[in-house]
Amino acid sequence: MNQPHFLLVTFPAQGHINPGLQFAKRLIATGARVTFATSVSTHRRMSSTSIIPNGLTFAPFSDGYDDGFKAGDDVEHFMSELKRCGSQTLTDLVLDLANKASPVTCIVYTLLLPWAADVARKLFVPSVLLWIQPATVLDIYYYYFNGYADLIANRIDPSYSIELPGLPTLTCRDIPSFFLPSNTYAFALKSFKEQFETLRQETKLRVLVNTFDALEPQGLKAIEKLNLVAVGPLIPSAFLDGKDPSDKSFGADLFKGSKDYIDWLDSKPNSSVIYVSFGSIAVLPKRQMEAMANGLLQSRRPFLWVIRRSENGAENEENKIPDQLEELNDEGLIVPWCSQVEVLSHASVGCFVTHCGWNSTLESVATGVPVVAFPQWSDQPTNAKLIQDVLKTGVRVSADEEDEGIVRSEEIVKCLEMVMEGEGGEEIRKNAKHWRDLAREAVKDGGSSDRNLREFLDDLVRERQ
Ligand code: UDP
Repeated sequence: MNQPHFLLVTFPAQGHINPGLQFAKRLIATGARVTFATSVSTHRRMSSTSIIPNGLTFAPFSDGYDDGFKAGDDVEHFMSELKRCGSQTLTDLVLDLANKASPVTCIVYTLLLPWAADVARKLFVPSVLLWIQPATVLDIYYYYFNGYADLIANRIDPSYSIELPGLPTLTCRDIPSFFLPSNTYAFALKSFKEQFETLRQETKLRVLVNTFDALEPQGLKAIEKLNLVAVGPLIPSAFLDGKDPSDKSFGADLFKGSKDYIDWLDSKPNSSVIYVSFGSIAVLPKRQMEAMANGLLQSRRPFLWVIRRSENGAENEENKIPDQLEELNDEGLIVPWCSQVEVLSHASVGCFVTHCGWNSTLESVATGVPVVAFPQWSDQPTNAKLIQDVLKTGVRVSADEEDEGIVRSEEIVKCLEMVMEGEGGEEIRKNAKHWRDLAREAVKDGGSSDRNLREFLDDLVRERQ
């Protein structure tokens, strides 16, 4: 058979590009060729595409914002332009690849790009969604669009239980933020609705999911109609199965970092450092940054905190650096960006204060680092629920609802102590190591994710014949 050629299309955000690129590397390791497509401006920003395996090429598509999405731009307008320009330029790209390189065997696309499946259908190319959030979250959306909307949406009473078949009992604290009355991002539910409508048209319904069988046995099987194929965790191999020791980074940072933190981490005792990061999008209010700074200083442990600088004029955290951290000595280090998996796998890191983005969550699982869960929006509350109640690898902070939902410094100190010391903490740390071992098991040769990927590829070959 000819070498299969995958076109991997990712939404232009770090949390989509990272698992997409990692999946591309996995496909290449099976002998496939991959063209990796993201938006023109993001393609330009992928400054540190340091490790590019043979067989991987990059090709941009236009989202109509070729100079980049800027602070103040209208996100609803962006999403409609993304669909309009993206559909056209992706069509051109597929035709071009067929003429100049080799025909595309399958389009793999990440969230918020349901139109990529429509392009594929029009061109008679198979397509598959790479779901980059947990299977549990996919199930919640599925239920919402299939008869459970009244049960899930617009709940504000935290004592109200949301019982969905096959899932843990949820409350309004645990469901994706787009279902809450406070949601101001209409584009998200609209895009998910289109996504599920498009999936319904698939002749062979299957979704690749960045999780692994042992992590979400119920979530992966909760809905019979959905054929969920767990291929994760999509983490650079050097930190997981070690198959490729040179595979040490995702390979495409959209933010400029520094390297000084490794020497600093080297100078700290094992499991002593608190690593703090809120991912690539969330921006904390100034008062929350101050409470975090106070909590970290009061905990009297060394901390490494990623506080992002503005890229492309987007809202940033740097202008909110709390005054009390302006003149830090050795008690902590603030960096604008880092190689997060490298940091998490460093022996001196003992705890991860995270916004619970699914990539960050899986990275904590794969490196066995216990967590203080500090969810902000989107799927993060559900991920925090999984961390605290299902994996039991961390504790979730409680916000003070009387005080604009701020998590106070005392609460932060309490959670840090719970995770990093004491009896309860011991259990959490033990669980974190247990899940790390299971994550490694899943991706090694013959592990569940390895087998699932190979079966998916075999199915594709059979369907082409
Ligand atoms: N990340 C990183 N360096 C940082 C902060 C984040 O490499 O300083 C990476 C992190 O490893 C993860 C991604 O950015 O792979 C963030 O994705 P996630 O789903 O956790 O959150 P999002 O940014 O989408 O909210």
